Amino acid sequence: MIAEKHADSLASLQLKGQLLRYGGQDYAESRAIFNMRRSETRPSVIVRAADADDVAMVMSWASRHRQPIGIRSGGHGADGAAMPDRVPVLDLTRLRDVHMDKANGRVKVGAGLLLGDIDRIGQDHGLVVPSGTVSDTGVAGLTLGGGVGMLMRRFGATVDNLINCDVVSTDGRKIVASESENADLFWALRGGGGNFGVVTAFEYRGYPVGPTVTAGFVVFPLDQAASILRKVGDSMSAIPREVGLVCSIVECPPMPPVPVQHHHRHILLMTILHSGELSLANDDIHKVISFGRPIVNMVTPMPWVQANSMFNVFAPTGRRTHQRGAYLSELRDETIALMLHHAVNAAQLDYVPPVPATAQSVWLMGGAITDDFAEDSKAFSREGARFFWEAVSQWDKPEDDGRLAAWADAVADAISPYARKNCYVNLSTDRGPEWIREIYGSEEKFQRLLSAKAKWDPHNILRFNKNFAIERRATQS
Ligand SMILES: Cc1cc2nc3c(=O)[nH]c(=O)nc-3n(C[C@H](O)[C@H](O)[C@H](O)COP(=O)(O)OP(=O)(O)OC[C@H]3O[C@@H](n4cnc5c(N)ncnc54)[C@H](O)[C@@H]3O)c2cc1C
Repeated sequence: MIAEKHADSLASLQLKGQLLRYGGQDYAESRAIFNMRRSETRPSVIVRAADADDVAMVMSWASRHRQPIGIRSGGHGADGAAMPDRVPVLDLTRLRDVHMDKANGRVKVGAGLLLGDIDRIGQDHGLVVPSGTVSDTGVAGLTLGGGVGMLMRRFGATVDNLINCDVVSTDGRKIVASESENADLFWALRGGGGNFGVVTAFEYRGYPVGPTVTAGFVVFPLDQAASILRKVGDSMSAIPREVGLVCSIVECPPMPPVPVQHHHRHILLMTILHSGELSLANDDIHKVISFGRPIVNMVTPMPWVQANSMFNVFAPTGRRTHQRGAYLSELRDETIALMLHHAVNAAQLDYVPPVPATAQSVWLMGGAITDDFAEDSKAFSREGARFFWEAVSQWDKPEDDGRLAAWADAVADAISPYARKNCYVNLSTDRGPEWIREIYGSEEKFQRLLSAKAKWDPHNILRFNKNFAIERRATQS
């Protein structure tokens, strides 16, 4: 009933895009998102917008009817917030315009683009936008949360390179948010997620990276992991900004260059991407590889697009998953010991999964992302963060939901005494209002976000996200 009511009402708007009715053709395909664990929800109707005018009409409708609405871009969010139950969803996947201005180093993309798209198109034009590591992640959700990846030490987070956005306000007006127009909205959009308006396009600073960079995996036996992680922690300032580094504790996939006796055993996997001068890459990379004695070193020159998709193999779409993340100020012996303990005592599956069921990664921060941008310059918080730690579990059978999610929660809880309170909102499952209150760093920043929510979305039309309105009501009562 509710599905028909929403669909009939939206059908009267004469949209240029598609109206996908519940159970109709294309509905199931459009409803699919990254995390299968969130596959049970059924939006009442999905509107696949053709352009920003369609978005404006739908938001104006939602505002008139006080109708909460879901927004879907890449559909990669681990919470599955892009596909809420029994409400309309505005699907932005068709907003795929791209404009490259090489002379001025500017890249403008529609909200429907995926990271692999901007890497590929940008590389063709000699401009790279600093973003994330898995190609089918949406640029929209990633940017609105912050955006961390292999170029963050050199150029900052994605939001540090955002010049402006085209936004449809929750009452259906098409506006621009930048440092000079609607600056309060621009501040909040850069880290505060999809709470304040629907962004239809993003304009970024792009950089001439590649086309050839030096990158690859380096595999170390687990018994070297503690010593390597300690050295990474101690040597951060000596590691050049051109080096992007993620150290993962994971079961070794059956990768051909790795001798078979290491397959399915825990290893320390370094993922390295050097984005600078090719002639300096080997020396720079050697600084981190020499922290241990590798079993296999697969680092080699390769195209940027290939280098920035190395993680794809570990994150296939359509599995069940749970993510927890935290910033660390240092890599203490106690923290490393906890990581290793939980890795080797991880929940097991009774079948051989396509990729390891559990993994923990330590992303090296420092450099531009932590040193070049003031904490209060935008909502995104990184104060005191020298490392980003994350635990990810992935599985296929619903009956394993409890055990596999519990593993990531248990290791996160164990590490939390050593972690910072502020956190990167995008790489952790929503932990609820108290967590949201803390992850932006100071209470002042949180209050600024609440003010922006009250001004730009007073009726909480955009509530399917890491949401501020619950907190606002709690604070006021
Ligand atoms: C396997 C995996 C790898 C990842 N790797 C990285 C990484 O390397 N670096 C990194 O920074 N992050 C990473 N992430 C996290 C990623 O940034 C977030 O999941 C992000 O929200 C995905 O964006 P999306 O557009 O695909 O998501 P969606 O699921 O479409 O949306 C996520 C949220 O944003 C809202 N939203 C989406 N688009 C808009 C819009 N245009 N306007 C307003 N609100 C909107 C949605 O309503 C929802 O609440 C990864 C996640 C996964 C699952």
